[in-house]
Amino acid sequence: MEDIILVVNCGSSSLKLAVFDSHYNKVVSALAERLSTDDAFARFAGDEAPLSLPSGASHEAALQALIDALRARGILERDPVAIGHRVVHGGETFREAALLDDDAITAIRDCSGLAPLHNPVNLSGISATRALFPDVPQVAVFDTAFHQTLPPRAFHYALPEAYYRDWAVRRYGFHGTSHYFMTQEAARLLGITPAGTSIISAHLGNGCSIAAIRDGISVDTSMGLTPLEGLVMGTRSGDVDPGLFDFLAGKGISATELHEVLNKKSGLLGLSGQSNDMRSLCELADHGHKPSELAIDVFCFRLAKYIGSMMASLTRLNALVFTGGIGGNSARVRQQTLSHLRLLGFELDPELNQCNGLYSDGRIDSEGSRFPIMVIPTNEELVIAREALRLAETSQTV
Ligand code: AMP
Repeated sequence: MEDIILVVNCGSSSLKLAVFDSHYNKVVSALAERLSTDDAFARFAGDEAPLSLPSGASHEAALQALIDALRARGILERDPVAIGHRVVHGGETFREAALLDDDAITAIRDCSGLAPLHNPVNLSGISATRALFPDVPQVAVFDTAFHQTLPPRAFHYALPEAYYRDWAVRRYGFHGTSHYFMTQEAARLLGITPAGTSIISAHLGNGCSIAAIRDGISVDTSMGLTPLEGLVMGTRSGDVDPGLFDFLAGKGISATELHEVLNKKSGLLGLSGQSNDMRSLCELADHGHKPSELAIDVFCFRLAKYIGSMMASLTRLNALVFTGGIGGNSARVRQQTLSHLRLLGFELDPELNQCNGLYSDGRIDSEGSRFPIMVIPTNEELVIAREALRLAETSQTV
C-alpha cells in the first residue's frame, strides 16, 4: 500500500486538503467552503456532487468529514506518513518549515498578533489533525519563511525604531512558498542551480506579490507587515499614501472601516465597481466598460513599477517569471505590464505569450529580449508535501 502525505490549508472560512503519494503525485484534493455558516459544504476535485456537511460545520468538523470520506474511498486505509500545514505567519521565529511539537505550536500562537485572521485558524487545523492522527509527524510551512533572508534595508520601515524593537513592526512578505517554488522551477527549466538563480517572481492571483530573488534567496518583496502592501490585488488596494488614514478620519471613516475597505472593497473591485475577477474585467473592458479598463491599467502600471524597483536588489537577472491565475493565464496583463518597461529591454514573443509558454518550457520572450521571460504554474501544495515528508523523515532518524 502506498505511503501518503496529507496537505492541509485552512483559510478564514475555507479548508483545502490535498493527498499526495510518496512520489509526490497528487492523488486527490478537496475544498470545504463557507465554514461556520449555514451554507457550509465540501467537494472533492472532479466530483459533481458536494459532500454534505452539518450546517455551521467548523474547520474541525469539515476535516473529520473529509477524512471519513477519504477512508470510505479506500485512500486512507492507514495513517498518512506526514501531514503538512500551510501557516501564514512565522514572524522572525521561523526561517524555514518546522516540525510541529508543543514549542513550535506555542511559537506559532505567539505570532498570531501579526496575523490575527490567519494563524488562529491555521492552528485549529493543526490541533484537529493532531487529534485525528496523534502518531503522525506534522509540519508547518510558512508563507513568510522564504523572505526571512531580506536584508535590513529591505525589511525596515522608516518608522521610529522602537516600533520594530517592541512590536516587531517590519516588512515580512508573503507567498514565500510560491516564490520559492518559482525559483526552483525556473532553475530547473533554465538548466542552472537554484543557488545560482536570480529572478523576479510575480505571483498574480487574487492576492498579488512580487519578489526579487538573488542567488536563490529572497532579497526584496512587495508585501509587508501584512499582505495588504504592494501591488493592486482583487479586493486589496496595495500601496496607498499613509496620509489617507488621517484624511479619511476627517471624513468620519474609522480605522476599522478603512481596514475593511482597503482589504475587501478596493483593488480591481474598487476601481471597476464591478468585479475582483481579472477575467471578467478583461471581458468588460473588451466591451468598452471604461472603469474595468482603468482597473486593468492601474494594475499593470503598478506591477510594472514594482518590476522596475526589484532591479535595485539584483546584479543580474536570469528571468522574469509570472505565475498565479492572472500571471499564468493573462497574456493581456503581461503584455500591458511589459509595455511600460521597454527601456529595460523586456520583449515578449506575442505567440508564445498567447500560449502562456505552454509549448516552450515556459519561455514567452522574443529573441531580442534582454532577459528571459517565463510563465510557470506554481505549486505550493507540492512544496508543503515535500517539506512535510523531509522533516517527518528527519524526526524518525533522531
Ligand atoms: P488565483 O487566486 O491564483 O486562483 O487567481 C485568480 C485570478 O486569476 C482571478 O482574478 C481570475 O479572473 C484570474 N484568471 C484566471 N484565468 C484567467 C484568464 N484566462 N485571464 C485573466 N485572468 C484570469
